Amino acid sequence: MTEPGRFADRVKQQADIVRVVGEYLPLKKAGQNFMGRCPFHNEKTPSFAVHPVKQIYHCFGCGVGGDVFKFVMEMEKLEFLDAVRLVAEKCGIAVPPRRPRSPEERREQGQRKLLLELHAAATEFFQRQLRSAGEGSVALGYLEDRGLDRAVIERFGLGYAPSGGDVLMRHLRGKFPEKAVEASGLVSRDASGRPYDRFRKRVMFPIANDTGRVVAFGGRALGDDPEASGPKYINSPETPIYVKSGVLYNFHAAKESIRQLEFAVMVEGYMDAIAVARAGVANVVASCGTSLTENQLRLVGRFTRRVVMNYDPDTAGQTATERSLVLLLEQGFEARVLRLPGGADPDKFIREQGAAAYQKMLAEAPAFLEHLIERALSAAGVDPSRSLGTAEGKLRAVNFLLPYLQKLPNRLLRSEWASRVADRLKIDEPMLRDTLRKAAAERRGEVKMRPELAPPATKPAERRLLQLLAEGEGFRQRLATELREAGVHRGLPTEKLFEALITACAAGDRPDPSALGESLEAPERRLLYDILFEPAAEPSWDEAASCLAALRHLRLESELADLQRQIEAGPAASELSALLARKLELRRALAGEVSG
Ligand SMILES: [Zn+2]
Repeated sequence: MTEPGRFADRVKQQADIVRVVGEYLPLKKAGQNFMGRCPFHNEKTPSFAVHPVKQIYHCFGCGVGGDVFKFVMEMEKLEFLDAVRLVAEKCGIAVPPRRPRSPEERREQGQRKLLLELHAAATEFFQRQLRSAGEGSVALGYLEDRGLDRAVIERFGLGYAPSGGDVLMRHLRGKFPEKAVEASGLVSRDASGRPYDRFRKRVMFPIANDTGRVVAFGGRALGDDPEASGPKYINSPETPIYVKSGVLYNFHAAKESIRQLEFAVMVEGYMDAIAVARAGVANVVASCGTSLTENQLRLVGRFTRRVVMNYDPDTAGQTATERSLVLLLEQGFEARVLRLPGGADPDKFIREQGAAAYQKMLAEAPAFLEHLIERALSAAGVDPSRSLGTAEGKLRAVNFLLPYLQKLPNRLLRSEWASRVADRLKIDEPMLRDTLRKAAAERRGEVKMRPELAPPATKPAERRLLQLLAEGEGFRQRLATELREAGVHRGLPTEKLFEALITACAAGDRPDPSALGESLEAPERRLLYDILFEPAAEPSWDEAASCLAALRHLRLESELADLQRQIEAGPAASELSALLARKLELRRALAGEVSG
């Protein structure tokens, strides 16, 4: 078996960070770097840089940074070795069989693998049931009544869970350990603790993760009567392979279309997603009942920053739409809202009006704010076609809209929308702008950089010395030694970063920025990356020497200033003479610097 460390080194040498990062977000060449919008914080203008030579990334906005593995770890929420494997796969490097790191990890890894296999077996089982005579044919008839033909059943892998109560359980027990069957969530227990199939007499929708592996199921009752057949929809519970907030139904099938069409359509349920996909809109995903989560948006955000929300027009759907809009705007997405006429959900609308009508509505879906203005006006009882409404109604409408306007991260966009709102509500534009400005000022207060991430303040000579340590081919070892002996970095806010670099350079090797970054606290790491991305002249020893002299001078001056404060504070006579003696020494040293 290959040593993981060595394999990681080999992958890192062969992988191109620009290409790997480019799979997650659009990058544009800018000078020596590639720039894009940071996937780790919300921004409108790109401050995320990838360095093709140093093979590192760095965000000047939020301060994240690292090498290709760190990037994949953060994006995919993976551990180091899994990130190495994924990067290797992306770059077509053969991955050696993996050695589990700890017994616990071996157990978890084994369990995940087993659960994926179990879900594949259950998917196949449900599909076989749908093709079988008896109950299966009744379910098939139900699906066909709803316009779901065999091609659709095939495409979405639909199946059927029979009514027996333990049919699936018995099937799985023959193939998988009892513990895995329990952990899969496909089995429930009744009051007496007796296990039974969670899904009974239901059409089954396999729910896949972003790579297309089935990780959960949704089951729809055959009838619409909850008395007879229980809740209309039930879902798998969360398991080690299924975290609901991180999965979007149909995402694995839709992602290529989302990339090509540069937008995603977001619906509520599986039936909606299937109906919309069948209507020729392949870039559709479903959030499965809940309003959007940050993790779901992160999935979409890998492929596009534009989303059309098409939730149910009922109150719950509209509330979910409005909550999701807040999140979309916060994350810098461009959002439109499709609200279908006649209170129809997408499935119903397409069945009644056809695919072409849906596509037309989709193409004409208004920007989120147009939609919200309509909502605000009707909620406030303002009928813009008849009268301008009461002042109180308008105020209610403005208060409804303000939070959304505030979420717009771009000032120009905010201003443009303010004009539109003022025009539509027939309110005084300067007054609206004033209100917005005040709200925006408050908002700025909220999004200030977290102090623990702010890099230490630095002097130019200090920054350049750090840069020379990192880049000074041929003299970094000598520089490290001189620094250590002179100690001019001690007491500086950057002392820890200096120490780390000095230690790394003492051996004479080129310091590995990502390894170094990992050993540092966030503010120091951030500073290191800031410095590494700074364009600079060819490093030379002469420059290093003059930076050292500058720091020595600063150090003497600050000691002198400190001494002066102590002297002015009126110390005891014995102490004073020592202070004055030291002062003289310092003055001489400073004078000597100038003459020497
Ligand atoms: Zn960032």
